[in-house]
Amino acid sequence: MKNLLGGKGANLAEMCSLGMPVPAGFTITTETCVEFYNNNMQYPATLKEEVDDSIAKVEKVMGMTFGDEENPLLLSCRSGARSSMPGMMETVLNIGLSSTTIPALIKKTGNPRFVYDAYRRLIMMYSDVVMEKAEGIEPKEGEGIRVQLDSMLHELKEKKGYENDSDLSTEDLIEICDAFKEKVVKVLGKPFPDDPYEQLWGGIGAVFKSWNGKRAIAYRRIEGIPDEWGTAVNVQAMVYGNMGDNSATGVAFSRNPATGENLFYGEWLVNAQGEDVVAGIRTPNPLNEATKNEQNKHLGSLEESMPVVYKELYAIQDSLERHFTDMQDIEFTIQEGKLWMLQCRVGKRTGVAALNMAMDMLQEGLIDEKSAVLRVSPNQLDELLHPILNPNTEAKAKLLAKGLPAGPGGAVGQIVFTSEDAIKVAAEGKDVILIREETNPEDVEGMRAAKGILTARGGMTSHAALVARGWGKCCIVGCDALKINLKNREVTINGEIYKEGDTFSLNGSKGAVYQGVIDTIDASENPRFVEYMTIVDKYRVLGVRTNADTPEDAANAIGFGAEGIGLFRIEHMFYGLDAEAPLSKLRKVILSDTLEQRVAAVNELEPYIREAVKGTMKVMDGKPVTFRLLDPPLHEFIPQTHEKIAELAKELNISEEEVKSRGDALHEVNPMMGHRGVRLGITYPEISQAQFRAIFEAAAQLIKEGGEPQPEIMVPVTISVRELDDQKVLCEAIHAEIEKRYGVNITYSYGTMIEIPRAAMLADEMANTAQFFSFGTNDLTQMTFGFSRDDIGGFMGDYLDKKIIDADPFQTLDQPTVGKLVEMGIKGGRNTNPKLKIGICGEHGGDPQSVEFCHRVGMNYVSCSPFRVPIARLAAAQAAIKEYE
Ligand code: PEP
Ligand code: MG
Repeated sequence: MKNLLGGKGANLAEMCSLGMPVPAGFTITTETCVEFYNNNMQYPATLKEEVDDSIAKVEKVMGMTFGDEENPLLLSCRSGARSSMPGMMETVLNIGLSSTTIPALIKKTGNPRFVYDAYRRLIMMYSDVVMEKAEGIEPKEGEGIRVQLDSMLHELKEKKGYENDSDLSTEDLIEICDAFKEKVVKVLGKPFPDDPYEQLWGGIGAVFKSWNGKRAIAYRRIEGIPDEWGTAVNVQAMVYGNMGDNSATGVAFSRNPATGENLFYGEWLVNAQGEDVVAGIRTPNPLNEATKNEQNKHLGSLEESMPVVYKELYAIQDSLERHFTDMQDIEFTIQEGKLWMLQCRVGKRTGVAALNMAMDMLQEGLIDEKSAVLRVSPNQLDELLHPILNPNTEAKAKLLAKGLPAGPGGAVGQIVFTSEDAIKVAAEGKDVILIREETNPEDVEGMRAAKGILTARGGMTSHAALVARGWGKCCIVGCDALKINLKNREVTINGEIYKEGDTFSLNGSKGAVYQGVIDTIDASENPRFVEYMTIVDKYRVLGVRTNADTPEDAANAIGFGAEGIGLFRIEHMFYGLDAEAPLSKLRKVILSDTLEQRVAAVNELEPYIREAVKGTMKVMDGKPVTFRLLDPPLHEFIPQTHEKIAELAKELNISEEEVKSRGDALHEVNPMMGHRGVRLGITYPEISQAQFRAIFEAAAQLIKEGGEPQPEIMVPVTISVRELDDQKVLCEAIHAEIEKRYGVNITYSYGTMIEIPRAAMLADEMANTAQFFSFGTNDLTQMTFGFSRDDIGGFMGDYLDKKIIDADPFQTLDQPTVGKLVEMGIKGGRNTNPKLKIGICGEHGGDPQSVEFCHRVGMNYVSCSPFRVPIARLAAAQAAIKEYE
């Protein structure tokens, strides 16, 4: 249903069949939209007749006639894709108001003010959506027809001393409608159409075209929604929330979308149309007493003002939630005391809310464990693990302003005032806070680039608030203390001026804004999270390990649920803090001229390796740790500074020139394909031997200390089983020597990385010697694509923008190519040894889509960075559940 009718259309149909009050209407399918695009933007031949038939049915149900001079029916035209794209496409309301129907409607309602209010909204929406956007006109920022008409309205209100739109009299509205129409002709060169059918077809076409509007395309890129889906068009009889003080409109959620709290939650406005709530023009009222907050506690609730309607609405949201067994996001209108349901859909939520709702609904018996596991997306989990402002520092910080807490967590960054600036500054690697007057869907890319979003106007259900929440972005809206001067790129708060580039800190969970930097902390020690992950693990088949090479990272990863280390990169001990001493020994090894010198240097290096290896194995006691032999080309470690060169010269007892020339001799034109990985061990067996010795001695010592080390030795960058055999002779000899010396049995396994296509192709042979495979999909991707891992930044953006590739293959495994090699490797390996243990340790091991692939092809485990361990656990469990279903 959803694929054909779009989310909105399908759910409207569902609400109708549940007997809920839905205005009559019909849906033009997504297929029609696809046909429209395939057919050079021409409607299918039968569409007109079908629309006419459907309108006749709507007319019959509603007892009104479209375009009639006595009892006119008005229509709305709304978009609705398969997957919700809030605010990214267009809507036209009040279609059918014309010089014939206006007098009729006035006569019928006795409410000329209402009719002209609806008319001025139609002119504004129609000229913007149909006559400007759908025609592909791109005015400069601030010069669009909507902005121009809006400022005319502002001017009129200012002139008359009005505060709200509702202060406008009938005469004012008539005056503004005429002025609007004149302006439309002047700006767009065409009159606003007076024919109801012309308006309707304009609306339908504009909705179709908005599928390919800029912001819809940008949103689809970010959310990975296919361009081919198209949107449906929902044509429905209009109902009015702006017919006086017993009319209203609102947006609600069956549970709180920001926190997950099980309370009916929402916002409404009396005497208004739906766009007033979502556009964030007026600060809306709270729906009920229980959910009032600091910002809206003085405003009346629907529960209080219209108790009977509230009760009916409450019962409907309750049955919708039960029917769909998930939190519902609903839109409603009250026309002269009668409730109408305009929309329902599964509500977007923050990561925190997703977790809380999944656990609550499980406890309430609304859903089972498997559904609970599927309810939190891996990305939401990621967001849960994201930082919050340090509460201790925050308590001491001076509060600058407060707004509505629209998206949780903490964000710290430089302030910018336009979407373009947010993108630009973020591209420079800086964290930014995007400040806007009101929440505007046009800003979607800037919002994406920003760490946090702060707006002066708008409510919790405004478009941008919804979008930000969907992404788990820290977001504060409706912060009315902000006086923004866009031209000067500055904002005044309580008389103080803050300029672009100043730093703000936001607490999106509280709605608090601070000046300056507040440090952030990690939010993972949530007991609910731990409980949830226990359920997740029940359904997981795939093992999850981590890539870690320090005791600290290892401990951290265990905290996140890692079951072992899938990649300990030995070379990491030569980078970063405390690396000076071992690095100087390694340099000695590298620049040694004779075997004798090198063996002596290697012997000095070995204790350092042993300590590094031992510390991590100790933390991982009883869990496997895969040590990957030294991988990078040696010249990476050559000293560069004069001071270091002099030091090394002294140690080696040679001249500084000699140091430099030996270093230069190691230079390679293409080091990534050069003398690295196992190739080093083939040339310099003593370098491998030192590593074997360090690992086995560390293990022997730990066994003596009562530990249970489980070392695994992994040979990198292999292309042939003969490399593995060559190194294995050395490994076994040292293993035997250490066992004898310490009088202990050291169990270990010996395996290889598969990261070169040749190795994947010869996997059956590799498995004769290797007891395990670990797919190094970083290098495997590099070799498959011929894209340098280190230089990809220069052109990847162009490849993605031009859709030459669908996703960055270094982030998400390219299944048709790299994935094929992986499958080939698994098949070959398991042909030789059905029990062959297989994992992945490239970056893809923490990418949800790639984890699903790893599950499907029968790997034993994935290995990823500590922070991604919970994400991989969840992705693996979801893959298992989906496969089963
Ligand atoms: C890989 O190539 O996927 C891998 C894990 O090794 P590295 O990233 O260290 O090259
Ligand atoms: Mg590699």
